[in-house]
Amino acid sequence: MRQSNLLLTTLREVPSEAETISHQLLLRAGYIRQLAAGVYTYLPLGRRVLRKIETIVREEMDHSGTQEILMPSMQPAELWKESERYDVYGKELMTFKDRHEREFILGPTHEEVVTSLVRNEISSYRKLPVTVYQIQTKFRDERRPRSGLLRGREFLMKDAYSFDISLEGLDKSYLQMFDAYHQIFKRCGLNFRAVQADSGAIGGEGGSHEFMALADIGEDTIAVCSSCDYAANLEQAEAIQPIKKELNLELPVLEKFHTPNLRTINQLEQELEIQPEQIMKTLIYEGSGQFFAVVVRGDHEVNEIKVSKYIGAAEIGLADYDAVKSLTGVESGFVGPVGLQITVLVDAAVAEMIQGTTGAGEKDYHYRNVVPGRDFELEHVGDFRNVAEGEGCPHCEDGILHFEQGIEVGHVFKLGTKYSEKLEASFLDRSGKSQPMIMGCYGIGISRLLSAIVEQNHDDQGIMWPVALAPYQVHILMMSVKDSGQLAVAEELYNQLTKLGIETLLDDRDERAGVKFKDSSLIGIPVTLVVGKEAAQGRVEYLERTSAGKETLEIFEAVSHIQ
Ligand code: ATP
Ligand code: MG
Ligand code: MG
Ligand code: MG
Repeated sequence: MRQSNLLLTTLREVPSEAETISHQLLLRAGYIRQLAAGVYTYLPLGRRVLRKIETIVREEMDHSGTQEILMPSMQPAELWKESERYDVYGKELMTFKDRHEREFILGPTHEEVVTSLVRNEISSYRKLPVTVYQIQTKFRDERRPRSGLLRGREFLMKDAYSFDISLEGLDKSYLQMFDAYHQIFKRCGLNFRAVQADSGAIGGEGGSHEFMALADIGEDTIAVCSSCDYAANLEQAEAIQPIKKELNLELPVLEKFHTPNLRTINQLEQELEIQPEQIMKTLIYEGSGQFFAVVVRGDHEVNEIKVSKYIGAAEIGLADYDAVKSLTGVESGFVGPVGLQITVLVDAAVAEMIQGTTGAGEKDYHYRNVVPGRDFELEHVGDFRNVAEGEGCPHCEDGILHFEQGIEVGHVFKLGTKYSEKLEASFLDRSGKSQPMIMGCYGIGISRLLSAIVEQNHDDQGIMWPVALAPYQVHILMMSVKDSGQLAVAEELYNQLTKLGIETLLDDRDERAGVKFKDSSLIGIPVTLVVGKEAAQGRVEYLERTSAGKETLEIFEAVSHIQ
């Protein structure tokens, strides 16, 4: 490609809307342009990198036996009502109506569509297992689109879905994807970790992993063991801030409660996709080895519950309705550690109801007498992660935990039968009995990955692409386009490299040398060949973007060096 023809404008100034390095560099180096908040155009250089990532993802998906399909972005809203996710997903859903007033959704993800597809295509165990994937544009009306491609409202995702006849089958499909993800991120040259993630109400052992690109600006906090390979997502930063704000909590109280493990029920609702009406407005303390959500039994009205103040139940010992009231002054309050140190605050009506059944006026009654299952349903939603920085690892003897920041670039998830039951995707097993298919889902943020890689690969001059993802492998800089000797050498090099199938960008612009060097460092192509004064002697300078040294080489040497 000749740079004089390339749709590329580099910017000297840092655009004011860009806070993160990757966002700044991708704008400055002419890879992307913003159309609206969280909505971007990929210019030719950006498109090429995206294609490289897509190719790696496709190769590894195909290699793992997964089949590529392409599903529509527009999805009938009824399908989302059928799966009961229409309300749960809330404002993040982008919706529109067609001319007949039928409501549609621009797909943020495709569990509904793929499940309805497979339920029609497959009816017998003979056709299972099957895993399909697509690379496609997704739409999410994110509350805070930010950092360029890291959190877009329109973005590119690879999403895959597996269908199995047994839990063992699901384990196998999951592992295949897990391995493929390792390959993909390795080939992208990414510094990453696979971490345990909250698996939601469906997860069993190891029900969900996130792949985290390590970066200071990452939104997720992960706990990593110094000795074994244990690593888990804490999602602490986001979880704590709103709680502190809403409830005006003092930090010491939070610390007592192992801050990383506190989360609001709103977050749980989103993460676990639990129906809001099933849950009391509460804070949940993950304690005593397992992580539970509290679900109110029966059909009590709990929508209006409001937490007005929160104190640590551990601090007051074991809560009793009156004691809590006198300590907190909370009129509508009930605090009861239910055996497993789950702390619940509810409104007066519910408190009364619970008092009636458990005798909540007596001291320590809850602690001693509350019966999980009778007074509350406890739903096991994942493994316990009672971790704080500097603590011992929960998985090995020697390790100490430290925290790192990460960008979630991939997510693998055992879904179980959640969607297949709601959408009636079943198959006939060997004995002719109808069973729901057992599903898994697996996502990679393709466009997010592009930014994450820049976040990890740059210096103060610009981007430094790993070879596998660079838009071009070689950048030829012609120092003076008016020098016929230089022109001849540059053309010769360009033709030879191009013939060899090496992607080469030739800077043939009539610009000063300084400008060309600056732009080249900003764009970040791995190898630069400088055609300057020594061109007359058939020599060029060979530079690598990641190292300071340079070599003077004969033309043929330069070519064989690159090959
Ligand atoms: P996050 O926690 O960052 O909001 P998520 O958990 O909602 O992401 P998933 O539903 O797991 O995302 O989607 C699969 C992958 O899609 C994510 O691992 C991430 O890499 C990517 N992704 C999700 N949301 C966005 C977004 N707004 N912009 C770019 N990529 C995204
Ligand atoms: Mg999200
Ligand atoms: Mg996430
Ligand atoms: Mg996720």
